[in-house]
Amino acid sequence: MTHEVEILRELVAIPSVSSLSNVPVVNCALKHLEGWHIERYPYTDAAHTAKVNVVATTARTRDAELAFICHTDTVPFEPDWADAVSGRVANGKLYGRGSCDVKGFLACVLAAVSQTDVATLKKPLAIVLTADEEIGCVGAKYLARKKALRSRHTIVGEPTGLQPVRAGKGYALAEIVVHGKEAHSAFPAQGRSAIFDAGRVLIALERVAKKLASKKNRDFDPPCTTLNAGLIRGGSAKNIIAGECRITVEWRPVPGHDPEWAAHLIREEIARLGEDFRVDFEVKRLDPPFSPSPTHHLSKLLESLSKRPATTVSFGTEAAHLPGSETVVFGPGTMAVAHQSGEHVPLADLKKCVAYFRATIDRFCK
Ligand SMILES: [Zn+2]
Repeated sequence: MTHEVEILRELVAIPSVSSLSNVPVVNCALKHLEGWHIERYPYTDAAHTAKVNVVATTARTRDAELAFICHTDTVPFEPDWADAVSGRVANGKLYGRGSCDVKGFLACVLAAVSQTDVATLKKPLAIVLTADEEIGCVGAKYLARKKALRSRHTIVGEPTGLQPVRAGKGYALAEIVVHGKEAHSAFPAQGRSAIFDAGRVLIALERVAKKLASKKNRDFDPPCTTLNAGLIRGGSAKNIIAGECRITVEWRPVPGHDPEWAAHLIREEIARLGEDFRVDFEVKRLDPPFSPSPTHHLSKLLESLSKRPATTVSFGTEAAHLPGSETVVFGPGTMAVAHQSGEHVPLADLKKCVAYFRATIDRFCK
C-alpha cells in the first residue's frame, strides 16, 4: 500500500462530521508534521464542541510562499453505510466519508511533504487545517479575521478531478417570513393566508431569478448568478388559515457581479407586492465569490502537470475567504460522488496528486 493510501485510511477511520470535534483528525494529521512550527487556533462551536484550526509552517513566519489549505470536517453519513469509516480499497478506489471531500487531498499533501526534506526548503511552506467548512467555512473565516497567514500561492483542497480551478461562485442565504392571520378555514374572510401570500412571493422570486440570469459571466456554467427557493414551511393544520409561511432562498453570485444584487432585487419585488403584504426578509449569509487571481504562476504549473485546462466551479469554497494571493482550488476525486453514500477516490488520482504536489513544492519553495 502506498504512503498516501495508508495515511488516507487512517484519516477516514476517524469520523470528523462537522458536529463532532475535529481535534482527533487534526492530531492524526500533525503526527506527519514533526519538526514543523505549529500554531493552533482553538474555539468552541455553538454546541460547545472543541474545534481547532492549525497553521503549520516550515519556518517561524506568517508569510508563506506556498500554502495548502484543507478542511478537516465532513458532511454527515447514513448510519447504514458500512464503508463510511472503513477506508475499504476495491477496484482501484478507496471508499469512505471524506475520502474525496477532502481527506484524499490532505493525504496527498502529507505524503508529498514526507517525501520532501523540508529543512532544505529556501522559502516557507505552510499547511493550514480548518474546522467547520461544511457548515459555512467557519474555520477559514476565523483564520482570516486573525490574519493567521499570508501566502503568495495557495492551493485549496476540494475534489476537482485534478483540474485546477481559478474562480468560483459565492454563496448567499436568506430567510423570508410571510405573515398572515390565522382563522377557521370555514371563514377565510376573518384571516389572511400566509401561504397564498407566499405564493405571490414565490412568483416574485422567479422574476428575480430571471433578472439574475440575464446578466452573464461566460466563465461559468451556468453563466449567471443562480437563485433557488429550496425550503418552504407554513401553516399549522388543514382547516386553519395559515398564519405564517417561511421560505429559505439561496443564491450563488458569480465574480464580477455585486453579491448583494439579488438581495436588492428581492427587496424591490417584495415592496412591489403592496403595503398590505407583511413580509420580512433577512440575509443570513453572504459569502463572496472566489475571483480569479491577477497572476497565473500556480494555475499554469498545475495545468501543465495535470494536462488539464484551468476552469471555474459553481460551488463555494474556502478560497473566497483567503484573498490577497494567487489561489487555485485543486484535488483528487470528483464532487459528483461527494456528499453521498459510496463516496470514493481513485487511487490513481491520489498517486498523481502526490507527484504534482512534490513538483509544486520544488518549484515554489526550493
Ligand atoms: Zn470540501
